[in-house]
Amino acid sequence: MTQADSIVKVLLVDDDELDRRLVKLILVQAQGHVRFNVETAASLSEAMQKLPESSYDIVLQDLNLSDCRGTEIVEKVSAVVPNVPIVVLTGFDDEEAGLEAIRAGAEDYLVKGSGLEYTLIKTIRYAIERKKSKASTTESKRELEQINARLMQTTMEANKLAEEAEKANVAKSQFLANMSHEIRTPMNAIIGFGEVLAEEQMSEEQKGYVKLILDSAKRLLLLINDILDFSRIEAGRMKVDKIECDIHELIANVESLMLPEAIQKNLEFKVSCSPNVPQYVKTDPIKLRQSLINLISNAIKFTESGKIEFTAESLIQDEKPFVEFRVADTGIGIPTDKHDAIFEAFTQADGSMTRKYGGTGLGLAVTRQLVRLLGGNISLKSEVGKGSEFSLTIPCDAISIRAPHHKDDKEFRGRFTGKLLLVEDAPANQEFMRSILEGLGFKVMIASDGLQAIEISQSAEFDLVFMDMQMPNMNGYDATKKLHVMGFKKPIIAMTASLMNEDERKCLQAGCDDYISKPIDRGQLVTMLCKFFTPAERQAVMV
Ligand code: ADP
Repeated sequence: MTQADSIVKVLLVDDDELDRRLVKLILVQAQGHVRFNVETAASLSEAMQKLPESSYDIVLQDLNLSDCRGTEIVEKVSAVVPNVPIVVLTGFDDEEAGLEAIRAGAEDYLVKGSGLEYTLIKTIRYAIERKKSKASTTESKRELEQINARLMQTTMEANKLAEEAEKANVAKSQFLANMSHEIRTPMNAIIGFGEVLAEEQMSEEQKGYVKLILDSAKRLLLLINDILDFSRIEAGRMKVDKIECDIHELIANVESLMLPEAIQKNLEFKVSCSPNVPQYVKTDPIKLRQSLINLISNAIKFTESGKIEFTAESLIQDEKPFVEFRVADTGIGIPTDKHDAIFEAFTQADGSMTRKYGGTGLGLAVTRQLVRLLGGNISLKSEVGKGSEFSLTIPCDAISIRAPHHKDDKEFRGRFTGKLLLVEDAPANQEFMRSILEGLGFKVMIASDGLQAIEISQSAEFDLVFMDMQMPNMNGYDATKKLHVMGFKKPIIAMTASLMNEDERKCLQAGCDDYISKPIDRGQLVTMLCKFFTPAERQAVMV
């Protein structure tokens, strides 16, 4: 339909016959693209009868009808035809009445009288357009609300499915973990008795059989261990036990374990550790060791000639210190498109290699998960035919880095102020600590056990307490708890003799703010004190 054809159907509701004829005339004689088809009603009841019968494009109505008056007419009409625009024609130029009509649902209002022929057509067309756009906005809003509701419903369903899938996955992993564990027990018996049997007198043929049984059983055990680890991680049951661990010793241990394998394949095995790697790092040494062994075993497995390099060095990533271990080989390499996939469970770079090299494709998946549990990451650079380089990073907890990063206590002589309570039963340790702390500028009081500490702290104030944990009469754990009960708010630093993180945890649980291990290292002690006190500027002291 072109615009020239468009016909606007009007219902004109007015009880004044002259007005009706006038308005009708204006509309019928209108020039332009639009033609008007006008029907009339002389009362509201007549209008109410006509409205449902025909689809009008617009209703023009007076506010004073014989059977109804004012905005009520607007309300009644718009209740019957909510999508048809209403334009009010009033006899008086009463702005308030016009606004009221708009509030009641009319699109516009016009005053009858001179100039009506100029404004009526325009007003009708604007009113129709406005109503249409309002209707389409309302429609869009409604559609949007519907879409939103559907989306919420779908999201809820998806969440429920995800939850169920997660539960099923955990159940599966749990099952695998239980099953692997159950299989491991008889496997140990097979291997154990197999080894006993191997020592017995046998023919060469029989020896060969026993060796075959043992080799197969050991391979099976390795596989079961991988599955057990993997399913434990998946089920969220793999716990990390971070302790202060000697990294240099760990590297040496891994080297001595892997060297025979490398030698057996005639491979050079080069191990180096940069001096910037801290001696002690707080991590889980068992998981770190396992991860490194996995990487080095792979390097040896997939390399026929050349060398394996195993290096460690310190680096800063996002302003945090890490230790990076690298395992580089001159082996078969890994195609670029497989670099991500090999870290997935049960995936191998080249399925056809499985028969040649063996393996399950679980090693790297487990390694990656373990490294993530340690707070680190694993990445890979590799080129087919040239070799691969795996990089494994672990965070090194600044608190537990010893020697290389600790402050030099000589530089801090006399720069601290504050009153400390040293709770320590051994006289030699008392004197040792007193001399360092006083040298740094602190005033030091000494208590020989927990009971004395409680007594002294009732009559004197301290800025910090060093608390030995093993003492006669009342130990450090009880004394710390008691001090807290008494309302003591200042830091309490535990002095522990053991490197086991179980003890550290116990100290913190008892309410200690931090811990330092014995024998006390001066640099470590100053580093610890700097956490709680601000030393004076050096020059000020030297003047
Ligand atoms: P597995 O060795 O038991 O198959 P992994 O998860 O340890 O499982 O390794 C997955 C795959 O990644 C291996 O099958 C191999 O294709 C590839 N891969 C791993 N390390 C190396 C390496 N150093 N050189 C070449 N390929 C490697």
